[in-house]
Amino acid sequence: MLATALHFSHSLLKETVQPGNHVVDATMGNGNDTELLAELVGKTGKVYAFDIQEQALRNTQDRLTKRQLPSRVKLILDGHEHLGNYLETTEEIHAAIFNLGYLPKSDKQVITLPATTQQALDTLLQHLAHRGRIIIVAYYGHPGGEEELTTVRDYCSKLPQKEYNVLNYQFINQQNQPPILFCIEKK
Ligand code: SAH
Repeated sequence: MLATALHFSHSLLKETVQPGNHVVDATMGNGNDTELLAELVGKTGKVYAFDIQEQALRNTQDRLTKRQLPSRVKLILDGHEHLGNYLETTEEIHAAIFNLGYLPKSDKQVITLPATTQQALDTLLQHLAHRGRIIIVAYYGHPGGEEELTTVRDYCSKLPQKEYNVLNYQFINQQNQPPILFCIEKK
């Protein structure tokens, strides 16, 4: 079967991330992507994981501890729009992932927002390594979701072809607004 956006996002990360790389989970949530990234970067790599909800950090910390992965992960209680404050000026990022929307089974009012998502993308592009990838999985069935989706789609489609490959992956005949994936790859 064709992969869901979520599964495809993991395939895109696995193809790209190598041991020792520095990577970003821009929306930690329940820590699913953080865990995968921590495995992929190995002992010598580094994962910067962001969320603005303490619950997300607690859930992710528990998950990493069970897998003995915490030392390579920096859990950051701050918005991804402040990413630049945590990176060295010349630090290269090989992959980043966003899950846009709200955290399932949590406060549905706490959602990612167009302006701050865009700010984080701007910063990531400045740090993106050759062949590095930024993956955005946009859930948009909630109030405000469509607006954010439009912002992300416009942002991605305007990136210069000379510098980036940009992919859009979505099922076009499904009910209930399944998530839509974008991938920006630096040429
Ligand atoms: N809808 C997705 C999960 C999205 S989780 C799914 O179903 O799997 C989105 C996460 O982003 C939430 O945990 C939320 O707290 C977090 N978030 C919201 N704004 C943020 C910001 N500015 N920076 C970092 N994380 C943010």
